[in-house]
Order: sequence, then structure tokens, then C-alpha cells
Amino acid sequence: MIERYPVVVIGAGQAGLSVSYYLKQRRIKHIVLEQARIADAWRTKRWDSFCLVTPNWQCRLPDFPYPGNDPDGFMLKEEIVAYVEAFASSFGAPVREGVSVRAVSRARDGYLLETSSGRMLAGQVVVAAGAYHHPLLPPGAGEIPDDIVQLHSSDYRNPGALPAGEVLVGGSGQSGCQIAEDLHLAGRRVHLCLGDAPRSPRMYRGKDVVAWLDDLKYYDTPIDVHPDVDMVRHKTNHYLTGRDGGREIDLREFARQGMRLYGFLEGVAGDTLSFAPDVKARLDSADATYNGIRALIDKHIHDNGIRAPEEPPYVPPWQPTTSPTQLNLRDAGITSVIWCFGFRPDFSFIQVPVFDARGYPRYQRGVTESLGLYFIGLPWLHTWGSGRFAGVAADAQYLCDQIAVVLARPDQAARRA
Ligand SMILES: Cc1cc2nc3c(=O)[nH]c(=O)nc-3n(C[C@H](O)[C@H](O)[C@H](O)COP(=O)(O)OP(=O)(O)OC[C@H]3O[C@@H](n4cnc5c(N)ncnc54)[C@H](O)[C@@H]3O)c2cc1C
Repeated sequence: MIERYPVVVIGAGQAGLSVSYYLKQRRIKHIVLEQARIADAWRTKRWDSFCLVTPNWQCRLPDFPYPGNDPDGFMLKEEIVAYVEAFASSFGAPVREGVSVRAVSRARDGYLLETSSGRMLAGQVVVAAGAYHHPLLPPGAGEIPDDIVQLHSSDYRNPGALPAGEVLVGGSGQSGCQIAEDLHLAGRRVHLCLGDAPRSPRMYRGKDVVAWLDDLKYYDTPIDVHPDVDMVRHKTNHYLTGRDGGREIDLREFARQGMRLYGFLEGVAGDTLSFAPDVKARLDSADATYNGIRALIDKHIHDNGIRAPEEPPYVPPWQPTTSPTQLNLRDAGITSVIWCFGFRPDFSFIQVPVFDARGYPRYQRGVTESLGLYFIGLPWLHTWGSGRFAGVAADAQYLCDQIAVVLARPDQAARRA
């Protein structure tokens, strides 16, 4: 006998659990299959000092807002895991842990799932498997000699776990900047090669910038109002941190304190890395976004007659005098390299033709053209908050409405079984 469910949800992170919550509210029978444990990505893919970059008040899982007493703070890794686990327990989410879905294909009246514990049939399937599957490494990384430790950001834990010596951090997105800071604060000499990530202020004119942007309805804006959907969906996140109560990250300040900055990584040949000579241009570009966000908030304050304290303009604390184009890791005493170039999603286990040429699913707000197949939890699936704690509840509710519509269709009665 093959097990059969009206709905199967793949993945028990915040997205899959949010879908489960609304399905349960509607009394739609379902199961959540999780290859590891609830909240596994928060548990196993983040470094030890990891904390949220978004404030706790933005953690608004369905009917389960952040329960602690520090809404303006930033939960640490263990607190995030506990929050997601508590949400799952709050409604008795029907999660089966340790079951990996290896393939999903079309079947009569739904989908066939090949799982690590056998075959299963589903009337409808929600893919909530996250977006961060394969770590990205630069071409040539394999050429770096074995005695230099190489890690991806998802495997970095803490400075003490690295061999003594200097560290190269590749990539200056959120993870790269925070890991560079983690090492810098621990007294390690860090060499950081810059990418195209913009930076954001943390506090400005008396309030966290996230709160200002929330007032401006930035987080509710659907992706389709943007002229270039692809660019918005795949662009690098702004860097700032929630560490120690939250602060902005200014790489110029780190450079003033001894961090070595390099331009865009152009090549790796053995133990020598080459870079574009563009440190100044990259710092200036990150600062332009930073100043643009401030200007946006200034305008909002002015237009709405809001009383808010003034702040002096940003003055760069450091300017590069050179932009090195080569770095020999051994000569510099670098014993570890941490690549923070992000991830590539991999949905190849979904064997249904709903993907574009790059393997990214085609959907309208998570609803694919294959009846009863949905995606959730992807960055900018619908709004900025779709791939975060802030907006996943609204997306989950929307998908559950669509699931209910399909179940109610007289010609789809077989999917209810
Ligand atoms: C470094 C980093 C920092 C972030 N910081 C923030 C932040 O400050 N604030 C914020 O709101 N968001 C942040 N995010 C974004 C987002 O909140 C997280 O990525 C979050 O984990 C996404 O939740 P999810 O449920 O969509 O996916 P995941 O948490 O990735 O959950 C997917 C689950 O699916 C399971 N799974 C995958 N494939 C299968 C399969 N084939 N079969 C069975 N199970 C499967 C996985 O084991 C996993 O448990 C951050 C992300 C990263 C990477």
C-alpha cells in the first residue's frame, strides 16, 4: 500500500511549517516531510555567533509573533531554533523528520514522491525546501594547496576552529561581512575581497532602518511592480549586523583598524589570487546605497512632518591609497580561506517541467503551471519578506487558499483522498 495524502509539504523550516499551520486551520490533511530536523538550516548552517539581521519584531510566523521581551533585538541562533520549534509545537505540526524526498513526478490525480522511506502519493505538493542548497565556490578554488584550509560560509563556526594565522574572506555580502567581523573582533588579521553588496545603516534618526522601511511599506511591495524582477530577486543583500544589539558595518573602519581590503576576485592560480583594482569603487558604491537609504528616510520624515533627531552626514573614516591586484596566500601568512559567495538552489529532484533555463521555478506567487504544485520560502517570491520571517505567513496563507480551491473543484475530487 502506498501512503497517500491530499497535501505533502517538503521541508520543515519556517516556510513549510507556516503552510502546515494554515492547512491545519482549514482541516486539510497533510504531512510535512523533513530530511533532517525542524529548523535544520538555522541549526546546522550558521556560525556560532550568528544572530538575526532583521529585528525580532519582524518574526511574525502565523499567529505566533516573537514571544520574547526584546522586540528590537536580534535573536541568536539557538533562540531562532527554539522559536521555530515552539511554533511547530504550538499547533502540533504533523512533521516526519529524517525523511528525504528524492524525486517528485506527476502521477494520476497528483504527484508521486520517492522518499528515503518509500513511495508516497500526494494530491498536491508544496516545496518548502529552502533556497540555499549548493555552496558557491569561485573557479580555481580546487587549485589552492591542501594545507590551506578552505571552507564555505555555511561550514564556518568560530575563529578558534581555524588554524592559527591570517584569514582570507571571499565576498562581502551579509555573511562575508559578518564572518570578517567575527574574525576581526577575535584579533585575527582578515583579508577581505569585496563583491557588489550594498550596505545599509542600522539606526538612523532615532529608529532602526528596518522600522523606517516598514513605515514606508517597502516590505509589502510585491515584486511585480519592479521593472527588473530577475535583478531584484537575485541581487546581493545589504550588509549590516544584529550583533551586540545591532550596528552597521563600515568596512572602511575595519580597514582603518588593520583589515586588508581587495577588489573583485578575478582568478585563483595555486596559492595566488588576483583581483580587479576596484576597492575604492566598491566602497563608494556600497556607501552610495547607504546614503541613498538615509536620503529616502529624510524625505519620508520631511514629507510627513515627523519629529526625529537630526544626524550629521556620513564622513568616510578611511580612503584606500592602493588596490592590490595580487595576493600570495603563503607570503601573507594566510592559513584559511572562507568563501562567502552564497548558494545555488537545486530543485532537480522536482521532475516536473516548471523550471526556466537556469533551473529556477516558474510561478505566480508560488503557484506553478502544474496544477497542485507550489513553491514557498524563496527570496522575493512575492515580497521582500517572502524568503524571511517577515513575509512567509502571508505567502503561506495565500498558497493554502489556492490548495483549498483545487480541493473544492468537482473535477479534482480524487486529490482529496
Ligand atoms: C546566512 C543567512 C542569514 C539569514 N538571516 C536572516 C534574518 O536575519 N532574518 C530573516 O528573516 N531571514 C534571514 N535569512 C533568510 C531565511 O529566513 C532563512 O534562509 C530561512 O532558513 C528560510 O526558511 P525556509 O523554511 O524557507 O527554508 P529552510 O530553513 O532552508 O528550510 C528548508 C527545509 O527543507 C528541508 N529539505 C530540503 N530539501 C528536502 C528534501 N528533498 N526532502 C526533505 N526535506 C528537505 C531542509 O532540511 C530544511 O529543513 C537568512 C538566511 C541566510 C542563509
